[in-house]
Amino acid sequence: MDECRHTRDIGKVTPSALGCEECLKSGSKWVHLRLCRTCGHVGCCDDSPNRHATKHFHATKHPIIEGYDPPEGWAWCYVDEVFVDLGDDVTPQNGPIPRFV
Ligand SMILES: [Zn+2]
Ligand SMILES: [Zn+2]
Ligand SMILES: [Zn+2]
Repeated sequence: MDECRHTRDIGKVTPSALGCEECLKSGSKWVHLRLCRTCGHVGCCDDSPNRHATKHFHATKHPIIEGYDPPEGWAWCYVDEVFVDLGDDVTPQNGPIPRFV
């Protein structure tokens, strides 16, 4: 399973926002959050209308995102398309996630 060559690049990051950075700015909704483990960008998943985490990968080539709502101990590598087990190396949330109803 662990075929990812980028695990050494997984860093300690500070989340850039409490929810998806771009969705908060535009007032859009998201389904799940994804945290970039290279720079701390918070984006939304591919089930969300705007898919900002994937757009962030295409724009920056930052390979690793962490499932982030709440942190569940896994990450995804966009380059190798594999799940990565983070174990205890998860990023705590800064505060409550803004929710849309
Ligand atoms: Zn990888
Ligand atoms: Zn978004
Ligand atoms: Zn990034």
